[in-house]
Amino acid sequence: MELWFTEKQTPEFGITAKIRETLVTEKTEYQDLALIDTEEFGRMLVLDGMVMTTVKDEFVYHEMAAHPALVTHPDPKQVLVVGGGDGGVIREVIKHPQVEKAVLVEIDGKVITCSKQYLPEIAGQLDHPRVDVQVGDGYMHIIQSKDKYDVIIVDSTEPVGPAAPLFERGFYQGIHEALKEDGIFVAQTDNPWFKADLIQKVNRDVKDIFPIVQVYGANIPTYPSGLWTFTMGSKKYDPLEVEEASVPELDTRYYTPRLHRAAFVLPRFVEDLVK
Ligand code: SAM
Repeated sequence: MELWFTEKQTPEFGITAKIRETLVTEKTEYQDLALIDTEEFGRMLVLDGMVMTTVKDEFVYHEMAAHPALVTHPDPKQVLVVGGGDGGVIREVIKHPQVEKAVLVEIDGKVITCSKQYLPEIAGQLDHPRVDVQVGDGYMHIIQSKDKYDVIIVDSTEPVGPAAPLFERGFYQGIHEALKEDGIFVAQTDNPWFKADLIQKVNRDVKDIFPIVQVYGANIPTYPSGLWTFTMGSKKYDPLEVEEASVPELDTRYYTPRLHRAAFVLPRFVEDLVK
């Protein structure tokens, strides 16, 4: 009998993936966690019925969450990742030799242990000596941090449940204070097809707090609509002023020196959201 995993991306639309094997299903303290081996995208982490990451396409999101900010900042030594318990963003962050310490604050320890066990190609660097993994609420960590980080990357779930506060204006104000005087932050800001309001709201809030705000996109086939956005807030450095020649050659499969600038070129219907 064929088994399929379906994510309802809106109440009326979704994607479905043929299951090869279900490896984990459990209710953690924070969310329903599933680890499914799918025919098309390989192993897939699912939280509260939403695709978090898959072995086949994870590199797009993790490279694009990490490299634009880490290349724009001239000397990112202290980096914070909020959420990101699958370890993919951390794996990309430590590809930058200037990074002295990458702190991960993930609220659900089960995501970390499950990812280490079933997604070693994604979570494999969580034990790296330059990585400090903390299980806790990213919101509280930010509020208690002052002038600590050069780059902060918010790799959270959708603005529901424990991640809801991570899309509020107060959180971005807290990020501004947790960043050093020339710091940069990036947050994943969902898709323009089903979450246009969220993108607009975050853009408005971040523009009230940061002098430089840029939005960029990437194609992620297993995320709602496939067109994903990231919102960058910067105190001093503009990603659009990074010269292609100064972008380091990194061990990547999506991000490239030419794509750094191209990613910030948005389709008109997305531009209109963030004007
Ligand atoms: N790339 C995925 C996306 O765009 O939806 C997110 C992947 S990562 C697995 C998301 C993580 O954020 C989850 O492991 C979740 O437990 C974590 N998270 C949610 N709220 C959090 C909070 N307040 N503090 C820290 N981590 C949080």
